[in-house]
Amino acid sequence: MQLLNKSEEKEEGQKLDSNSKLTMEEFAKISRERADSYHRYHIEALETRDYQALPNRFIVKVGKIGLAKLIISETFTYWGKWDVVFSRPCTYGVFSGPVGGFSPRPEKCVGCLRCTVQHPDFVTVEHNPKRKAMGDNYLNSKIISTIDEEARKGTVPVRGQGYRGRFGGPGWDGMFTDMSEIVRPSRDGIHGRELISTIVDIGSKPLSLKFDNDGNLISEGPRMFTIQVPFIYDAPPNEIISNKLAKIWKKSAENVDTLAILPSEIVLANNLASPSVVPIIPLNSLDCAKSFKSGTRMVELDGWDSKSYDRVVSDCPDIIVGVRLEFAQGWQQKLDEMMLSNVPVIHFVADNHGIGDGGRFIMDLLLEAHQKLLDAGFRDKVTLLNTGVIVAADHLPKAIICGLDAVGLNQPLLIAMQARLNGDLSSNDYGAKFPRKYTEDWAIQRIVNLTCSWRDQMLEILGAMGVREVRRLRGEIGRAMWCSHLEDEAFSDIDGYVGGGK
Ligand code: SF4
Repeated sequence: MQLLNKSEEKEEGQKLDSNSKLTMEEFAKISRERADSYHRYHIEALETRDYQALPNRFIVKVGKIGLAKLIISETFTYWGKWDVVFSRPCTYGVFSGPVGGFSPRPEKCVGCLRCTVQHPDFVTVEHNPKRKAMGDNYLNSKIISTIDEEARKGTVPVRGQGYRGRFGGPGWDGMFTDMSEIVRPSRDGIHGRELISTIVDIGSKPLSLKFDNDGNLISEGPRMFTIQVPFIYDAPPNEIISNKLAKIWKKSAENVDTLAILPSEIVLANNLASPSVVPIIPLNSLDCAKSFKSGTRMVELDGWDSKSYDRVVSDCPDIIVGVRLEFAQGWQQKLDEMMLSNVPVIHFVADNHGIGDGGRFIMDLLLEAHQKLLDAGFRDKVTLLNTGVIVAADHLPKAIICGLDAVGLNQPLLIAMQARLNGDLSSNDYGAKFPRKYTEDWAIQRIVNLTCSWRDQMLEILGAMGVREVRRLRGEIGRAMWCSHLEDEAFSDIDGYVGGGK
């Protein structure tokens, strides 16, 4: 908790007072010591090998006779330069194995198609159907490949080929962020010219403070703590969660200073309670909330029921009690009730494809929830979270622009661990096949790498938008454009234009 109690506030005030009586030399010395003790937040990313590599992107087939003829003719042309003879026609090394193209190495193929253009008579390159079949139509094979690369390297993926996709599309692709050239040079969060903060407050802030005549705070202060990144690790589905996975979630969260949300029975059974762990308290097992003393900063009630909420609050006066709620029909009424009960953290859990109440995409629902809190004059008193539907780094800032404070991740963490998901990925009714004999340390580093990559991409976006901290991005819809709005503006006068992105 960042909250100071009254005696600490007094002490801090006395220190400030005594600072004002220091000589310039003493003040400079104290300032120097304070500056030297400052550590800039940093995530240690380390390249981490694959335990269960993805299927190759391409299948390379080579006609042996055609290749033999090529090698014979190349042998005469490049006599003595055997590495050249046996590597052509691919500069990426697909044909550079011990027996050259007679046993190609498709894992090195990037799909440039040079070989097929040069030698269409004996080389073919095709997409690998096994790779394309991974995931589903939302968490598709491209997204899985990107997460896999981010978790392996911990860096921002760079393609160097420009953007080849379409502009505008369904879901999150319907929103563009405003990256103004004017502000860009002054904001550089990655290379350190300027600090861009990704810290998020979790909890409730009062809308005003009251002080007595002596300057002492007499109203309730903020009840919140901070985490270093705008995402938390949410519990995997019941089908998948295990004691080992829960420990990985906890240690990864501690490593990067965020939160791991885990079922209370697993937390208790494995003694995982810590400031970074948020136990989920089932409505039918409220008593277990009393067990969380060892530094637990927050618990989440699994569903909304005002009496249960009041009971957990009175049982755990020093802990922030949040509520976890499905983004299903009737959420608006529950949100109103939660506002009346002063719930400090509301955590929505959406369908993994982002289709919620009335078939609307999550973006609309988040905007509505944020607006409801604003209209009620309640926005800063509540931290709004959502799990589900965020599977790529660019979804993260868009969700925050729609009004979230932070995002809950689960599927991307499983993909980072090279789990193969199966079943209905739109709901939480899916299974996962993990690499054989993977170690905890390996899995933690893969998750930390993913976190580092997504944070760096967040910094890129914030830098490009000229926003110096992620807290200021929340609900900043003035910095976003919707493809459908732009199309309506441009084409609505044209006969035959249907609108709505059709
Ligand atoms: S497509 Fe490009 S990378 Fe792949 S084998 Fe052919 S030349 Fe090599």
